[in-house]
Amino acid sequence: MAPTILYCDFFGHKYEISKKVTNHVKEYTCTCCKKQLTTNSNGKLIELTPKYQEINEALSRIYNNRMMRLKQKTLSSSVY
Ligand SMILES: [Zn+2]
Repeated sequence: MAPTILYCDFFGHKYEISKKVTNHVKEYTCTCCKKQLTTNSNGKLIELTPKYQEINEALSRIYNNRMMRLKQKTLSSSVY
């Protein structure tokens, strides 16, 4: 059996930010093999499993809500 060496195994993955979840949490996709990573709550990069995809979606919802509220607050205080 001939060993098949993947480009990524040999040269390493080429990760690009594919999604910004919050200021601190981002999702990365390898442009080569499409492997996905995400930042966990400790700020470490881990594999993006369906479980973490769910967590990130929830995080992103909370984050966007908070951002919206912050914006509203800024608006009302600027009126004052
Ligand atoms: Zn890769």
